Amino acid sequence: MRTKHLIIFLPLVVVALYAYRWPVKPQDKAHGINATLGEMRVDTLGNPDHFHAGVDIAESGDSIYCPDTSIVDTTEWKSNWIGRFRYIHASLDTFLQGDTILPGCVIGYITGTHLHFRESSTRLSPHDALNPLDSLALTPYYDSTNPHIDSVKFYR
Ligand SMILES: [Zn+2]
Repeated sequence: MRTKHLIIFLPLVVVALYAYRWPVKPQDKAHGINATLGEMRVDTLGNPDHFHAGVDIAESGDSIYCPDTSIVDTTEWKSNWIGRFRYIHASLDTFLQGDTILPGCVIGYITGTHLHFRESSTRLSPHDALNPLDSLALTPYYDSTNPHIDSVKFYR
């Protein structure tokens, strides 16, 4: 009697995942976070408006440093995108399409009370938002804050 074997080939997807530095100095030290990915933001009337699409780094008035090798492949830097990262409450230097910015290079400065920092999966699809506090993102990051719940709200 012959035994038949079922052989399944699974596609092997190789994904290059790696951590990157902080966009503020010192880049190899954890910094405070004021807001995290996914927090509900409300409009002026208190109605649900959108989810927070990044983290707010509690630094102000400082220079912004490139966290990871970034290529300016479009003119998206005008909307504060450089590569797959977006910097809000910031004034970015002028770059040209095709410029490669290395980690540690100054790319601008913070204009607000914090730096809103967002990451997308690729520099070509800046419409998604990844969690910069993931284990393979901002490094190092230590969450020393005890969990607490300010309030619970339900939205339709
Ligand atoms: Zn923010």
